[in-house]
Amino acid sequence: MSTEAIPPPPTAAASAAAPAPLRLWPLMRWWMPVVIGGLLLGATSFLVNLSSIQERGEAHDQLVTDTQWVRQSLQFQLEREAEALELIASDLRTGALAPAGLEARLRVFLRRGRETISVALLEDGPGAPALEVRDPSASGIDALAAVPSSIIEAAMERAARQGDAAFSKPFSASWGAGIVLGVPAGLAPGSGANRMLVAVFSLERLLEEMVPWTFAQGHEVTISDVTGTVHARRNAAGAGRGIYTYQAPLDLPGAALILRTNSVKGPPDWIANVLRGGVIALAFFLFWSLWALWSDVRRRVAAEHRLRDEVAFRRAMGDSAVIGLRARDLDGRVTFANPAFCRMVGLPEEALVGHAPPMPYWVPERMDEYRDRVDQVLSGQATTAPYETVFQRADGQRFPVVIYDAPLRDADGRQVGWMSSIIDVTEEKQAEERERQQHERLQTAARLTTMGEMASSLAHELNQPLGAITSYLAGSLNLLQKGDAPKEEIAAALAKASAQAQRAGQVIRRVHEFVRKQEPKRMPVEVSALLDDCRALIDLQARRDGVRVTVEVEADLPPVYGDPVLLQQVILNLTRNGIDAMAGCPPERRRLAISASRLGAWVLIVVRDFGSGIDESLAEQVFSPFFTTKAEGMGMGLSICRSIVELHGGRLNFRRLADGTEFHLQLPPGQ
Ligand code: ADP
Repeated sequence: MSTEAIPPPPTAAASAAAPAPLRLWPLMRWWMPVVIGGLLLGATSFLVNLSSIQERGEAHDQLVTDTQWVRQSLQFQLEREAEALELIASDLRTGALAPAGLEARLRVFLRRGRETISVALLEDGPGAPALEVRDPSASGIDALAAVPSSIIEAAMERAARQGDAAFSKPFSASWGAGIVLGVPAGLAPGSGANRMLVAVFSLERLLEEMVPWTFAQGHEVTISDVTGTVHARRNAAGAGRGIYTYQAPLDLPGAALILRTNSVKGPPDWIANVLRGGVIALAFFLFWSLWALWSDVRRRVAAEHRLRDEVAFRRAMGDSAVIGLRARDLDGRVTFANPAFCRMVGLPEEALVGHAPPMPYWVPERMDEYRDRVDQVLSGQATTAPYETVFQRADGQRFPVVIYDAPLRDADGRQVGWMSSIIDVTEEKQAEERERQQHERLQTAARLTTMGEMASSLAHELNQPLGAITSYLAGSLNLLQKGDAPKEEIAAALAKASAQAQRAGQVIRRVHEFVRKQEPKRMPVEVSALLDDCRALIDLQARRDGVRVTVEVEADLPPVYGDPVLLQQVILNLTRNGIDAMAGCPPERRRLAISASRLGAWVLIVVRDFGSGIDESLAEQVFSPFFTTKAEGMGMGLSICRSIVELHGGRLNFRRLADGTEFHLQLPPGQ
């Protein structure tokens, strides 16, 4: 596990200035828990071992005490036996004990302890005893005869030499392991042979008798000779484990026996083992948790690093953005403003961040509007649709802006505020205004062009009604001068003159209305009335070019919604184009058919001519401004028409036919 990534990289200046111990500190900080954990584990293991050693020591001390106690018992017992036999021997020697009473004494002696299996009086060395008393429980065993004669001889020889009781080396016979005690008993009266009292003890029985049951339950007890050969063994509870052992010599005259005890107890280590296991498990968990902690910290540090990169990246994005970015909390307080927004409003970031409404860039007369908007945004009712308003710079200069608000959420998805993008639309607004003005100028130019074209026709057309009026009035004057003319005739002539005057007036008024620059006035317009109103002008041009005009209007057409003067301009443009297109055609083909019908809820007006048609290659261009194929044309007519129709929410297009063109004007229904 590398620790280099964990501490933040020191800056060059800091690392140069920092003293050496400080540079070590990050390393120590991360390794300290491991060192402390290691020390703790070491101390715990040491204590566990110490307690284990102590426990072993106590058990061993106990064994030593118990073994010494057993040794003492065995030794006392054998010494007492020796003393008792010696007493008998001395009575024999002094003659206080008659040979006849010897057997009874020997029986008493035999009954003293179960370990004695035979006692005999030998005369002149080993061989057949002069008298032998055997343990009745060991009947059938000729204990004395089974003892190797060398053993008896050695004991007797030693006893004779010392003139005192002497034990033999331990031996193994057919009935088991034993030891022989020899006591000189003086000379036999009469024969003068050397008498010797000999007792045979079973070492197994000795162990059975003298080792307490409680001790035997926990230990294997053996008696061996100096060469280490085991002669007798008592292991009631099984073999010793060799963990706790002790040996003590049995100090008997003439014999060297070794008492060895070997506990069946196993090592006292189960507690220690459990503790050791616990310590190992603890160590494992300690290091595992440290490792987990380290990995977690490493992950966190890496995440922090990524977060810092992300923040730097986002800040760079915010700084380089050309649109203004501003964040607000749920109280409307500014929490972030990017450089573009600061430049826009002419205030430094410090003056904006932390500022609550009213804002320094609000225009005084629009305060209520801003407040409403802030309330809407903060209460979550505002839509994310763009919102247009005006801000002012620090120097008081105002500028139009479009604002897009979006909710700002934290990592848990909880809304913590609003993020807004603010676009300064000054240039767009100026461009829009320029375009509008240009459009208006073009419209006026178009109207004037149309008017110029029509002026001559108009003069000619007005001549006709004026001429008619003049002749009707002259006729009326004549009738009046005659004096007897019926009143009805004069009235009829005057009525006709009046009708012609009205027609002339209508032509003039329409042209005037058409040419006058007006704001669109929307209203429900009956299509038949619209066509009627254009009719005078259409007829004027048609008559000049020798074109027949037909108008068909479907019954009960719904009204359309729009400005009648502009719509008339569209229809007149279309009819004029149709008439122009038929200029080069034979006179019988010159026909202009105007019809109006329903198209779903909409109204469709079709202007159909039988003229030259529109070449396929030009189909795309006819609606472009300044596109014309006419010598005296301006090429603005259709372009303006389309703008007007689109302004009314309608559509304008055409169909190329084999023998002419059909212009379709679709208008939405009136409201
Ligand atoms: P202008 O009439 O001044 O030329 P317009 O925009 O009204 O400008 O028309 C542009 C061009 O479209 C015309 O010059 C003509 O070539 C073509 N055009 C318009 N209407 C028709 C029509 N009904 N038949 C044939 N060509 C037409």
